[in-house]
Amino acid sequence: MTIDGFELDEDFARKLDLADPLAGFRHHFYIPDGEIYMDGNSLGLLSQASESSVLQALDEWKTLGIRGWLEARQPWFYLAEELGAKCAKLVGAEANEVVATGTTTVNIHSLVNTFYQPDSRRRKILADELTFPTDIYALRSIVNLRGFDTDNLVLAESGDGGFLDENEIIALMDKNTALVFLPSVLYRSGQLLDMKYLTEQAHKRGIQIGFDCSHSVGVVPHDFDKWDVDFAVWCSYKYLNGGPGSTAFLYLNKEYFDYEPALTGWFGYVKDRQFDLDLEFEHAKNAGGWQISSPAILSSAPLEGSLKIILEAGIEKIRQKSLKLTAYLMHLIDNVLSRQPYSFEIGTPREAGRRGGHVAVVHEEGLRISEALRAKGVISDFRPPNFIRIAPVPLYNSYYEVWRIIQLLKEIIDEKEYKKFPRDRKRIS
Ligand SMILES: *Cc1c(COP(=O)(O)O)cnc(C)c1O
Repeated sequence: MTIDGFELDEDFARKLDLADPLAGFRHHFYIPDGEIYMDGNSLGLLSQASESSVLQALDEWKTLGIRGWLEARQPWFYLAEELGAKCAKLVGAEANEVVATGTTTVNIHSLVNTFYQPDSRRRKILADELTFPTDIYALRSIVNLRGFDTDNLVLAESGDGGFLDENEIIALMDKNTALVFLPSVLYRSGQLLDMKYLTEQAHKRGIQIGFDCSHSVGVVPHDFDKWDVDFAVWCSYKYLNGGPGSTAFLYLNKEYFDYEPALTGWFGYVKDRQFDLDLEFEHAKNAGGWQISSPAILSSAPLEGSLKIILEAGIEKIRQKSLKLTAYLMHLIDNVLSRQPYSFEIGTPREAGRRGGHVAVVHEEGLRISEALRAKGVISDFRPPNFIRIAPVPLYNSYYEVWRIIQLLKEIIDEKEYKKFPRDRKRIS
């Protein structure tokens, strides 16, 4: 039941940190004082590199005014494409297949509407009931705006409320399915879906498929081109450390550069003729053609710094450390906290290839335990009904911090500390 090779004492955690090739990256980040921050799957931390790229953008606005569009060190006019090219290296795409633009939900509207071409036979969109709700809200409105009933959005169900079975999803891909849209990693359980297999199977049935990779880009390597994924979207404020509400990304397989963007706007215009201001729209034949508005320079600037750090560390090394951190966390839960009176369970797949960057720790008192952890300076979060999500982030968390959390969880149960907290939820956790 446990993963071999880990020991339970503090010294062992310290040894893992000493041998960690990424340990030095922690010093590039601002760690909130006195806290163990394990919430990078919700909001990644600020790095010095991001701070300086934001300050630089502010300074260029201050000193250059409108000239910043072409004269900033990284001209604002090309920033979205430049950031896209950098992020493309993290997802196995060519530089012009990725662009930094908009927000995740808006990009879902933009790309799903582009790909969703229902005809009299194929009209259904296939998604799943465990994805992040905004994806469902968007898909439902897309179906409704075409004048179709909501039952044209088909949701693959989960037997146990935590996991999805790829083969059950594939069984729902039928002759009425127009499009499939799924998450890479489930935001509660942390299950990583097999995107390569799902793509293969969708294409075999003549169905196009896109993914929301908000919970995986920056911590899991992707190979969109090789897997032949049709399109993808992801946010940049989780493992990409872009800051609250930072500009999102989209990927469009080059096969579709000639498709007409569904939601058009002037920043999608052919770049070198955009300022001709012609009334006939002609989109750039690359992912940039799917931009709508002026790029949010101040919300994109942090990404210059944060992508630099991630590329420097290397996504393969990041993934290796992530898997080791989460395996270690699960080992400690199994060996220290699984029996009575602790009774913690693991709500995340055990196999390395089936989990993303966080571990869901399940306990019937999850909400109050999560509050008690916070009172002890551990920032993790809670998702109903009973998931405590703990995300040890490779670039700024240590093995010692993982070890420490286990001791704190033990104390919380030993001393019944969670009983001091109310049973009802705060609005944001
Ligand atoms: C974080 C996340 C989002 C966020 O959407 P916004 O439009 O940026 O608010 C969307 N989908 C998934 C799956 C996410 O994990």
